[in-house]
Amino acid sequence: MNEREIEAIVKQVLDGMRDPSALSGSAAKATGAIPKTSRVAMLTALENYEIKEFPIPEVGDDDILVKVEGCGICGTDAHEFKRDPFGLIPLVLGHEGTGEIVKMGKNVKQDSAGKPLKLGDKVVTCMIFKDNPDITMFDLNKQNVGGADVYGLLPDDDIHLNGWFSDYLFIRGGSTVFNVSDLDLKSRILIEPCAVLIHAVERAKTTGILRFNSRVVVQGCGPIGLICIAILKTMGIQHIVAVDGEQKRLDFAKELGASASVNFKEYKGIEALAGAVKDAFGGYLADFAFQCTGSPVAHSNIYKFIRNGGGLCELGFFINGGDATINPHFDICSKEITTVGSWVYTLRDYATTFDFLKSAKDIGLPLDKLITHTYPLEKINEAHRTNLAMEGLKIAIINE
Ligand SMILES: [Zn+2]
Repeated sequence: MNEREIEAIVKQVLDGMRDPSALSGSAAKATGAIPKTSRVAMLTALENYEIKEFPIPEVGDDDILVKVEGCGICGTDAHEFKRDPFGLIPLVLGHEGTGEIVKMGKNVKQDSAGKPLKLGDKVVTCMIFKDNPDITMFDLNKQNVGGADVYGLLPDDDIHLNGWFSDYLFIRGGSTVFNVSDLDLKSRILIEPCAVLIHAVERAKTTGILRFNSRVVVQGCGPIGLICIAILKTMGIQHIVAVDGEQKRLDFAKELGASASVNFKEYKGIEALAGAVKDAFGGYLADFAFQCTGSPVAHSNIYKFIRNGGGLCELGFFINGGDATINPHFDICSKEITTVGSWVYTLRDYATTFDFLKSAKDIGLPLDKLITHTYPLEKINEAHRTNLAMEGLKIAIINE
């Protein structure tokens, strides 16, 4: 910044003191002051975000204003971008976000886990309970986010700052907020997708089959399958076989804890593929399997990887991917397979996720490498196209 620019900003700030509406975004940034308006990336039509600017509302006694640092792009965002299956357009998307508290109401003292909150703390949000703001997280072991609202999937309203693809997020009283100041930015961006897998592993544990020395197969090495592998590794499970058709993803699966990998493109037919999985376990079928793809064929195949009396967690179908064919006699009855489905997460899973991220870091798992591409907010259309092209793993918007 040269002297003339500094002078211009000083003048603008002085003008702003006389007339606060004169304080533009750049001058506000230079002074650390909160600007009058915030940019948001609003999805206004299919495959089209527009950067819009809205006034930042007055922060009420129970509200929190967060300066957004970054937000991951989720598969859900990709579906909204392409097809708007929830009929939400126009809206501000982005639910895998995090940022810093810059203003809070006088009633806000602690987060949803009871941790103190102050200005400057880094936070994430989880569910919004519009109807019952008194609910606390420890009543919520069984309440799943499937039945609640989240920022980033709300219809537009007169507040507008409703999603994390934005410069500021306006958190209303009755929302769940967590103080995650002890996690770095990339870890914080990965909290939401990791919570999905913490939940899946908790569901898997209810079968009683997943144990310390289990042989576990993880089918599908997109972000969901890769995070699954990292969680299993962090839990101490040593025998993890990753199955995917992309060698690059399989190599990364090994960095995140897989002991062996199987590229399904190298095998013709399910018998040969099941044989390869068995070989990868040293001549055994899997005790437990996680199905992390959205492919019905992959669902049909996975039973062949599981031993008699084994277990399966199916978590790949976040949208309707069509019907899968199985043989109930061979695949379920005669093998006595125990199957669980998994759907998003509870608040308890969210809190567990913070500990998982710290443990994963402690044992040296390079989870941050999951974020392969970052874009500034104004390039959000490009970021989504990169996501749809499946060129990377996790794509994130990072605000400067
Ligand atoms: Zn998500």
